[in-house]
Amino acid sequence: MKFTPVLLPIIIEAIADVIEKNSVEVTDLDQALGDGDHVINLQRGLDALMSERAELAQLDWVDAWHKIGMMLMVSVGGASGSLYGTLFIALSRAGRDKELALQIFADVLTQGVEAVKKRGRSDSGEKTLLDVFIPVVNYLRTASVDSTSLVDVLDNVSKVAIAGMESTRNMLATKGRASFLEERSLGHIDAGAKTAQLMICAIVDVLSSQLTSPT
Ligand code: ADP
Ligand code: MG
Repeated sequence: MKFTPVLLPIIIEAIADVIEKNSVEVTDLDQALGDGDHVINLQRGLDALMSERAELAQLDWVDAWHKIGMMLMVSVGGASGSLYGTLFIALSRAGRDKELALQIFADVLTQGVEAVKKRGRSDSGEKTLLDVFIPVVNYLRTASVDSTSLVDVLDNVSKVAIAGMESTRNMLATKGRASFLEERSLGHIDAGAKTAQLMICAIVDVLSSQLTSPT
């Protein structure tokens, strides 16, 4: 699996683009269940990453992850700021001195998601971004590039992320601001799950297009 830091600027641009394109829909979701600031929070982080993207691409992956985590911690704010900050800092710790092969990456990502669970005191089924990350990580741990091509694995990641996002619609929110709504949280997709899915699908698209038509 080729995960070169060279792709980081393209990935950051693709994520900023997809969040911008879906900003009205996501803001509506966060207004229904939260305080409506989720897109603005993420965009503060993405603006910071955009301005440093060339520098980030010069670093080793683990150093880039660490820097991204620190930048998100200070720039994003809200619940999502500390959760994404925690994710990247944990990825950086778990990934140190490891090769980025698929199974190793799945293991590193598992440790990152475990750190987010701890930080948020939350787990799957609570109508949060974890309902996207947990199934994606679980899928990656079982995925094998021996029996499935990497392009198919990536395609499955997108499908799992979309299913995870959709699954939040009929969940009762028990964490974050949405938990105050109790039963009224039913029927709405969680904004953080939606943006997690959009970001994962954007990363998949970048990686898939690199694999199918290398420049
Ligand atoms: P805030 O809720 O502080 O306004 P954001 O609007 O940026 O922060 O992010 C809200 C999203 O964060 C939610 O949609 C949910 O997915 C996620 N979230 C909130 N609290 C938790 C938690 N304890 N564990 C996991 N995810 C959470
Ligand atoms: Mg909010």
